[in-house]
Amino acid sequence: MYRQSEFINLENYLLEKKYLKNNSCEQSLNAHTFIGTVGLKKHRFKSVSLFLINAFDEKTLKRMSKVFILLSITMALGTAINFLKTETPDLLYVLGITTSMVPLIFSLFIQHVLEYHRDTFCRKCGKKLACEEVGEPVLKETSDRGDYTLTVTRHWKCRYCGNIDTREGPGDIFINKGEMKPIIHLKSIECKKCGGIGTVKEFKIPDIKEIGNKRVIRRYYKCTICGHENISESEEAINRSVPAFR
Ligand SMILES: [Zn+2]
Ligand SMILES: [Zn+2]
Repeated sequence: MYRQSEFINLENYLLEKKYLKNNSCEQSLNAHTFIGTVGLKKHRFKSVSLFLINAFDEKTLKRMSKVFILLSITMALGTAINFLKTETPDLLYVLGITTSMVPLIFSLFIQHVLEYHRDTFCRKCGKKLACEEVGEPVLKETSDRGDYTLTVTRHWKCRYCGNIDTREGPGDIFINKGEMKPIIHLKSIECKKCGGIGTVKEFKIPDIKEIGNKRVIRRYYKCTICGHENISESEEAINRSVPAFR
């Protein structure tokens, strides 16, 4: 828990860094910059992660992850070679390959634990499991004609030395450029400024971001008569059984 005054300090700190609390959009030439916010970072399997981080240091965990990957590859290769040489029954082959996936899952899990370690490690006083996320994360998106980048800035406060560490990263959000709608789909759109129907066209490739199970598509429209620009965002649930970004 943090005292109220500490939050006020943090707010000043964020203001100093010129972060805006509310969503905003700036435009220069064809590049749009959006500033918004996302939720605090969630870590799954917290208790197991805490146990492993307390029991082992970072180096050992990294080594464990590598050993599990090697074990997985060795088991898969062993099964394949054995299958080719001795014509093992198909069922045993499938069983061997499936079993070789188990160490791979362990390795991925340790990667997840290592991420928790990195987030909670204080780079100032060197203590592990010391930092907690504070303040509001800042989401910054820049969209150019063919380029779309996104960064999430989070603030981590050490409960021992009080240091606030600001870290920037992709924030587990997948981004991509989408495809423009076929012109026929734009025929019925009305310009919000001049009321022209069928005068609107997309002037930029849409941006797509995936946060959790949600896909947000941002489209850029411009009226060919009055030049009015309209940026629209639509959300859809992600069905993982169909490939993303079709
Ligand atoms: Zn510290
Ligand atoms: Zn118009």
